[in-house]
Amino acid sequence: MIQENLVEKVLSAIDPEEVIRLTASLVRINSVWDPVAGTNEKTAAEFVARWAQAQGFQVQMDEVAPGRPNVVVTHAGGPGPRTLMFEGHTDVVTPGDVSQWAYDPFGAQIVGRRMYGRGTNDTKGNLAAMLAAMAAIQRSGVALAGSVVGGVLCDEEDQMIGVQDFIRRGHADRVTAAVICEPQDGMICTSQKGALRARFHIAGKMSHGAMPLAGLNTSPAVAELLRGLHALEAEAVNAFGRDPHLGWPSFTPTVVQAPAAGAAQLNVMPGEARVLVDIRTLPAQSHVDIIAALGRLAADAQARARAHYDDYDRLLGIERPCGLTVGMEILTDRPCTRTAAGDPVVQAADWATRSVTGREPVYGGVPGATDGTFLWALKHIPIVTMGAGDREVPHQKDEWVDLDQLVATAGIYALIALHYLGAGPDA
Ligand SMILES: [Zn+2]
Repeated sequence: MIQENLVEKVLSAIDPEEVIRLTASLVRINSVWDPVAGTNEKTAAEFVARWAQAQGFQVQMDEVAPGRPNVVVTHAGGPGPRTLMFEGHTDVVTPGDVSQWAYDPFGAQIVGRRMYGRGTNDTKGNLAAMLAAMAAIQRSGVALAGSVVGGVLCDEEDQMIGVQDFIRRGHADRVTAAVICEPQDGMICTSQKGALRARFHIAGKMSHGAMPLAGLNTSPAVAELLRGLHALEAEAVNAFGRDPHLGWPSFTPTVVQAPAAGAAQLNVMPGEARVLVDIRTLPAQSHVDIIAALGRLAADAQARARAHYDDYDRLLGIERPCGLTVGMEILTDRPCTRTAAGDPVVQAADWATRSVTGREPVYGGVPGATDGTFLWALKHIPIVTMGAGDREVPHQKDEWVDLDQLVATAGIYALIALHYLGAGPDA
């Protein structure tokens, strides 16, 4: 049981203006990773490092790639067995066509109780909230039984090299639970969908469109693949149903390309084609089984396309050497994550949300992968994903965050640390 006076001490150490100021400062730094324009996470990371040093935290900067550092901020608590990590990323996605914005994407303009700009929602606001939460704990003088680590990481939006570097350097070894600070509109998300991306490559024989019998069109095999992928999706939907937090499993062909390279021309029959599929999975699905099924699908599509050519050649009384092939490779394999409702970090998130908002917490799931996926998959760290910001707003124009929700989030984060780590003996 947490003493009421400790809750009071920690919450009163949150400075709402500081949360807003920190968010604005971070949004005004363009941290889109764009090697052509020369922008990256470096300036934002250095800003965080300077701020954290001024607060008296232990700060370590790790160069993950040129111009792309991670910052590891530590509030050292007692020698208890638990260490809580807050994770927030410094990179933001491109603003796209700036003329489509009503607000300066890097202006951090406040209108009413909303702040506009790239990253206000995903996730510089939540990054500011987690830093303000750590500062509140430090300033409150409340001694925690264990430590808090702030992972301020690069490259969440692309290949997630930041979190992988954080793990490789051993920073995650001491972490026993993590809060992934992402816009989930105040919900406590305990699960995330998995992702499997695969590429099918079909090789036939290119020929003149007027002389199709001189080649082998890739299209019949493409048709087989699209039909087969839909059948796999229907099978998964039937077998696993709809997860209340994550929705349906999906097998979505996203790129269908023939020819696989070079200009497409109406009178040239393509010799090579490719089909890319983006598969999103539920925790009950086995990625190993799906990969095996995709391999079988490639073999089946090849056999069927070859049989189709054999039959057709017999009908026409011709003979073509049918060397059409269908290959498959996996491009991405990110597992689902699921943290049990009874896990101490979920219990802490539940209590903290109730304490700050006075409302029953809402639970949910994350449709995409986050840095938390790697902490969960590689280090078996239980994670919750939560933070301020409408879930539909990330990566859109006129991105915004509600400032009252953002300030409340800083309080929730601080109380999660208090509940999860517990007060030290000298509290
Ligand atoms: Zn994000």
